Amino acid sequence: MTLAVRYTAARTLDTAVAPSTPPGPGEVELAPAYVGICGTDLHIFHGDMDARVAAPAVLGHEMSGRIVRVGPGVEDWQPGDAVTVMPLRWDDTCPACRSGHQHICQHLDFIGIDSPGAMQQRWTVPASTLLRLPDSLPLDLAALVEPTAVAVHDVGRAQVAEGEKAVVVGGGPVGVLIALVARAAGADVRVVELNAHRRLLAEELGLTVWSPGDDDVPALVREWTGDAGADVAFEVSGAAGGVDTAVDVLGVRGRLCLVAIHPRPREVNLHRFFWRELTLVGARLYDRGDFEKAVTLVADGTIPAERLISKVVPLTQAPAAFEALEGGGDVMKILVDCTDDAQGGAV
Ligand SMILES: [Zn+2]
Repeated sequence: MTLAVRYTAARTLDTAVAPSTPPGPGEVELAPAYVGICGTDLHIFHGDMDARVAAPAVLGHEMSGRIVRVGPGVEDWQPGDAVTVMPLRWDDTCPACRSGHQHICQHLDFIGIDSPGAMQQRWTVPASTLLRLPDSLPLDLAALVEPTAVAVHDVGRAQVAEGEKAVVVGGGPVGVLIALVARAAGADVRVVELNAHRRLLAEELGLTVWSPGDDDVPALVREWTGDAGADVAFEVSGAAGGVDTAVDVLGVRGRLCLVAIHPRPREVNLHRFFWRELTLVGARLYDRGDFEKAVTLVADGTIPAERLISKVVPLTQAPAAFEALEGGGDVMKILVDCTDDAQGGAV
């Protein structure tokens, strides 16, 4: 049996016990250890994604865990192996897949949104989604690999080069991870964030952070860049004002990398794009290479994952944690502890 956190209706989560299913051919059954709560999970919780998410739905796609059972035909994996999951299933036949972009397959199954996720004691996934974790990497920290892979992909899409100046608009978990990955790539980075708690945490990680409320961000950028403007801006805030800032700070031939989900069309200063010959590039999810690099960055401490984890709660307290996260931005990452021990044993 497996205890699971399920989305049942807008603003309603429950915990339910279900039989665990044996892995089929090519599948593995995992015991998830830690599962991060992500902004997308909060959108689901809000009811914003009811058109896509079939309730009751088990949430969770940022995870670490160990293999419990392997299905027929699965080689290379053994019970006990420490793993994370790249939660994508693609059809390999659509135009996107055929052009080599399987991660944005036109019929993508994002596991944890379109199909059952990791916030449960047992979780069956295709063996092809697994990545091996080094023994030296604690499993709580490994739950940060998936959001780090997002950041690796974003920095790659923006083609950040050593010595470039980059502005990250939005200093939540993904924005901070982008800043850290860009810094590791040799960029000089500034973060723009409204929330004082998040600014403080980013500063503690050695990042220079500006407040759009208190600081004149375009003026600071001009001063910082000798009036040139930044080479790269990442829009991670999802807000109209964030888009304006990201456009305003760019110098000639600057690249704006769009990371946040903007559910509605936004007004954009296209004259600026014309005048400065700017480029806009979208960045969604990650590929396997991004994920492998993310494992390395978390394992070698380039990403100080322990500093980003605000709280760890057992499965049964996950619904309350979602409520708390809705309250505001005074936390970074909350992990759900799915281990049998945290629930007082296997159900
Ligand atoms: Zn496809």
